[in-house]
Amino acid sequence: MTKKFNVGWGLTNKCNMRCQFCYSEDARHELQECNISDWKNFADRNHAFIDSINYGTGENAILDDFFYFAKYMKQKYPEIRQSLTTNGYISERTKTNPQFKDIFQDCIDEVDVSVDFYNKEKHSEFRGQPNAYDWAMNTLHIAKEMGKLATIVFVGFNETCDEHNLVGLFELARQNDAFLRMNIYRPVKESKIISDRFILSYDKLKQTLQYVNNEQEIVSLSDMLLGNVFTGDTSIEDNTGKDSIRILPDGTICPSTYLIAEKYRKNISIHNADLSTLKFDQFNDIEIPKDCAGCKYEKSCRGGVYDRRILWYDTFSERDPYCPMQNGDALPEQLFRIRNHIGRVSVHDGYLPTLFFKPKD
Ligand code: SF4
Repeated sequence: MTKKFNVGWGLTNKCNMRCQFCYSEDARHELQECNISDWKNFADRNHAFIDSINYGTGENAILDDFFYFAKYMKQKYPEIRQSLTTNGYISERTKTNPQFKDIFQDCIDEVDVSVDFYNKEKHSEFRGQPNAYDWAMNTLHIAKEMGKLATIVFVGFNETCDEHNLVGLFELARQNDAFLRMNIYRPVKESKIISDRFILSYDKLKQTLQYVNNEQEIVSLSDMLLGNVFTGDTSIEDNTGKDSIRILPDGTICPSTYLIAEKYRKNISIHNADLSTLKFDQFNDIEIPKDCAGCKYEKSCRGGVYDRRILWYDTFSERDPYCPMQNGDALPEQLFRIRNHIGRVSVHDGYLPTLFFKPKD
């Protein structure tokens, strides 16, 4: 069977918000953007090896060419699923341009809307954009009207995982028939002040998962450590650098959404990439940390999520920072309930280590 990639694609450096934890701000601002001819050339050469594209990183809806490219892909390669991660600005573009509204309706299969805080003022202030909350809500309403698969995505750090905020986010998800997805914060920026503020503590992560298990629903823990330890799903793999790639605005191809710094890249870009042979060798045969010896998940968890081990410790020989034993805790005795679903929940499920939840029915 042909191996196909889930592609995360940031078409542009541009963004109209100033999020304090932005993963890609530094890397994006150094970059010269490609243009729509470059994107089409890459897609024409490699479409047979692409399963899905998620447009994320930067705010792609700012670009007119994002809409024209999504239309091109839909017309030429309708088998490739397309999704958009947006800060909500898509609602402004589609409000003022009927053609863009039609393209969004016809060509984008899924939409992820970033909302970190259920509180309007707090979310907008945090995003550095007074309209952030309204744009996000408008996008959720449009997605609901259009019958699109919608997800509210939030970055998991101690403040967003405060139970009061979680209750509010689940309520927003309920009102908008959306999933709720949590991306645990990664210390991508080499700034200790930012990392100290945003790194989610082990205890807070455990409390969050316990809250969701008790009061809401866990749909998918697409995370090699957390899926194993909390739900006993031993089939989860880490697709970093294998089935998943991230394309930066200058066309550089990286192995992960989070491993975008210069040192993790290879000299591969959309100008020269051949997805039929693309491999990031550093993710082949990853060693299992010695401290995992004897753990009942040693063969399936294998030390946990690759990008977290690299970003926290710069080595694969350490266990995932959220391993219970790494935190002086024991493996949970009782596994969490997980909602039955067939296949992937969305294009993000399995694309990167991420956690899907749903308000309880
Ligand atoms: S000890 Fe290793 S294999 Fe076991 S849960 Fe922790 S990281 Fe995973």
